[in-house]
Amino acid sequence: MKTGKEMREVGMIENAGVLCEEGNITWVGPMNKCEKELPAEIAEVDASGKVVLPGFVDSHTHMMFAGSRAHEFGLRAEGATYEQIAEQGGGILNTITHVRKAAKRELKRSTARSLLDLLRHGTTTVEIKSGYGLDMDSEIKMLEGINELAEEEIIGIVSTFIGAHAIPPEFKTNPQGYIDLIMQKMIPYVGKKRLAAFCDVFCEKGYFDLQQSELILSEAKKHGMALKLHAEELTPLGGAELAGRLGAASADHLEHITDKGIEALKTGGVVAALLPGVSLFLNHGYAPARKLIDAGVAVAIASDFNPGSCMSFSMPLMMTIACTQMRMTPEEAITAATLNGAAALNLSGSVGSIEVGKQADLVVANIPDYRYLAYHFGTNHISMTIKNGTILEL
Ligand SMILES: [Zn+2]
Repeated sequence: MKTGKEMREVGMIENAGVLCEEGNITWVGPMNKCEKELPAEIAEVDASGKVVLPGFVDSHTHMMFAGSRAHEFGLRAEGATYEQIAEQGGGILNTITHVRKAAKRELKRSTARSLLDLLRHGTTTVEIKSGYGLDMDSEIKMLEGINELAEEEIIGIVSTFIGAHAIPPEFKTNPQGYIDLIMQKMIPYVGKKRLAAFCDVFCEKGYFDLQQSELILSEAKKHGMALKLHAEELTPLGGAELAGRLGAASADHLEHITDKGIEALKTGGVVAALLPGVSLFLNHGYAPARKLIDAGVAVAIASDFNPGSCMSFSMPLMMTIACTQMRMTPEEAITAATLNGAAALNLSGSVGSIEVGKQADLVVANIPDYRYLAYHFGTNHISMTIKNGTILEL
């Protein structure tokens, strides 16, 4: 991962070439310096006049869901509050109801459709969370679905278990009962079956407090999962400090992170995964990206694609918002959407940059200058996506 001023170094090479063999990058540099003997059978891609970048790594999504929240979007536009919508059975409960009813194959089918769209927009690795089932069977159904999609290898998928996304309605008067279920049943099962690389918790007032989050995450760690947290989104609860203490790979959201939290991320080497699309969609303020970067924290940006708080998976759009609203430079936004996104998934050794030995995950953007990716927004500039060395027909 890159931190501080390094985040501005994108390693631009003019008139560059990349050689990919057996799914990996075997050479990269200025074309006229390529002395490597090219294999006889090689598919050549002419990207002249275009920009080639590493495929985007979206380290935070809830993109497996069912049902629609378009109705709520309309209500919100007319001034309804989140609480008023929740009282009418809307919000996360709405999605939970639909996901519980949906068959695994339906969830997989709709997610697979979105995955193709992600590839068209240049994302080649994506994290997908559970957390809309909130009972044993439905959480497992989601995780199995995510893992089965991963096995199809159309895109890189990292699965995350977030049973602690909310307290389900049947445990409303007995939240501890649900936490016991997560710790005693769900985590051991998910760990044993290796259904998730990460465990995540919505550490927030009214959801899972610091102590509960720590208990759940520590248990997940014992069962072989790496850690993530939804932290400091609505209130400065201390989730960032907890992430540092537990050695989490990333702390996500961070709209209300404190100076102490920033220090904890830095010392703990925790990636700050910021979600610009959520701040735009909910209009609830932005994470202090500038302060985090200047303090030496590795910043990633992700879409948080989900039906309630960000219905976009466009990483270039996230970059535009990061540059215009969070004072990140276009170079920092590229690093945040690629290499640091990979670091948030413990994958910076294999994806996130165009380096020899890494997976050949590349995107070709039909733009004259890499800054156009964030600058010329609202349109898809990606003209080709290459995953593991394969040119995708999308
Ligand atoms: Zn989230």
